[in-house]
Amino acid sequence: MQEIAGTRRNTVRYIYEEYEYHIDTMSPVIYRCATRKTTGCRGTARVDAAGVVTVYWPHKGHQPNRNVLEEAHMRQEMLDLAARTNAPPKEIFDKVCRRNPVVALNFSFVVIKRAIQRVRAKLRLPTSATFQDLSEVLNDYAPT
Ligand SMILES: [Zn+2]
Repeated sequence: MQEIAGTRRNTVRYIYEEYEYHIDTMSPVIYRCATRKTTGCRGTARVDAAGVVTVYWPHKGHQPNRNVLEEAHMRQEMLDLAARTNAPPKEIFDKVCRRNPVVALNFSFVVIKRAIQRVRAKLRLPTSATFQDLSEVLNDYAPT
């Protein structure tokens, strides 16, 4: 199982051979198809103590997502750019999407924009000034 960062904070997505899984709520070694709720697919995999994955119930009714890793990679790149630069969200989105337009079709700007805003809000948090701090800054401000 390959683990990649999930869409929401502190979530993990599990990928095996281009299929995505969720850990079974009853057993940490059983992984069930992530599309189960929407497709009814009963695809199930088991991971043994050595980490060997066995798909013991095949996927049915949907295709594997060949781009799942590239999608995660591109998304992470956008969030890294958001953290490292002051570029507008749309510019970051377009820049990364241009690199792989086929995979980019799966992205929604609105969703990415929100994620970019969250990343930036989090970065600002430690320095976020109270109004008291702000008034002190303004008191010290002397126009030159
Ligand atoms: Zn499935």
